[in-house]
This record gives sequence, structure tokens and C-alpha cells, in this order.
Amino acid sequence: MGRKFIDCRDYPSEMNCSIAISADNEKELIDAAVQHAVAVHGHKDTPEFRASLKQAVKDGTPPVKAQPRAA
Ligand SMILES: [Zn+2]
Repeated sequence: MGRKFIDCRDYPSEMNCSIAISADNEKELIDAAVQHAVAVHGHKDTPEFRASLKQAVKDGTPPVKAQPRAA
């Protein structure tokens, strides 16, 4: 199983968060991402929010620089 990550830089927010979270399995990653989103972004830990985070999971490791965003 490869490395997986969620990169907060892909999701512009008012605080310009630059956190990227990576883990070896999706459950660890989602758990850490939920904790981060609740603590920093004020999200609620709901099944719906976890499902939307799952959509944000990418394979590999976070890039050193933020990916250019599609306009
Ligand atoms: Zn963040």
C-alpha cells in the first residue's frame, strides 16, 4: 500500500492553511485530517464530512510546492 495524503493548500481558506497530512493508510489519514479540520477550520466531524475528505485523498506524498490551481 502506498503513501496517501491530503493537502490543505488545495483548499483555499481564509487562513491560507499550508498543512499537508500524509499517512500509510486511508483511515489514519482521514482521522488526522478530521482532527485538523475540526481544530483549525471549525468543521464538524460528521459522516458526510469524512466522505468529502475521502474524495480529497491523493496517492503519493505532498509536493514541496503548492500545485498551481486550475482557474
Ligand atoms: Zn488546514
